[in-house]
Amino acid sequence: MNHSAERKKLISLFQFVGMPVLGSAAVCFFVLEARRELRKRKQSQADRIKTNVGVAAVAGAGLRWVLLPGIIAGAQLAHHRKQGLVARLGLPKVLAYPISFLLLDYGNYLWHVLLHRWPLLWRFHNVHHTDLDLDVTTAWRFHLGEVLLGTPFRAGAAWLASAPPGLTVFYEVFYEAATAFHHSNLKLPYGTELLLNKIVVTPRMHGIHHSVVQRETDSNYSILFSCWDRLHRTARLDVPQSTINIGVPAYRDPEELTFRKLMKLPFTETRPWQLPDGKVPYRPERKDVRQLLP
Ligand SMILES: [Zn+2]
Repeated sequence: MNHSAERKKLISLFQFVGMPVLGSAAVCFFVLEARRELRKRKQSQADRIKTNVGVAAVAGAGLRWVLLPGIIAGAQLAHHRKQGLVARLGLPKVLAYPISFLLLDYGNYLWHVLLHRWPLLWRFHNVHHTDLDLDVTTAWRFHLGEVLLGTPFRAGAAWLASAPPGLTVFYEVFYEAATAFHHSNLKLPYGTELLLNKIVVTPRMHGIHHSVVQRETDSNYSILFSCWDRLHRTARLDVPQSTINIGVPAYRDPEELTFRKLMKLPFTETRPWQLPDGKVPYRPERKDVRQLLP
């Protein structure tokens, strides 16, 4: 099969198998988070759904027509020519495939760090963080620009990981499902969450990443596996969920966060990290805390 036909087949697989699976997972999280609320909501859910679905519809086109084909193309280049890091090791598939899968996830950790540290990228990622509440619909609130700018990086990561093209699509389903899960406002039983968090990113862990306190936002970048934050010492677990104020301090007015304004937001001047009254949100660090607080 030539590259273009293989790409088409894999994109159809994502569309007609992956998307229904992800849609069902999203509906489950949506129903569950309404029954077991983790953090109190500030804004009308109907308004947020309208905004987030609008932003997601535009980004979804970028995912379908640019990002996914780009990642698969990066993987094809490496896999069929035996290029990239993993291919050089000459490992059997049973080892090479899981390592490629882990590297794809590690690539996304690094990309997320860049989104926060590079001012140009933050302009776009800011759109995601300005949501005043956090739930499963936030998982779709990504500006088209972020999707497009992420394409060369993620295609390069797939190439470096020597990922088989089918594996990138398989990973993408896990990536999207993990994103829906850790953004959800679902209050899991505390003990269950502590156990899960040893392996994957959970709602309490990612909730801290959406705090208005900058040190807390600048932590917990992992997407699927939580080990990357522990490895890089960017994990922050010392914040009780009831005390988290979600959002970006300089963008607190829902009137400024409508669909149209969010689409233009990356092209406006980035405001400093402070509340409208000029105060900078602060919370002392608790270095004694080693696991997520309830
Ligand atoms: Zn972020």
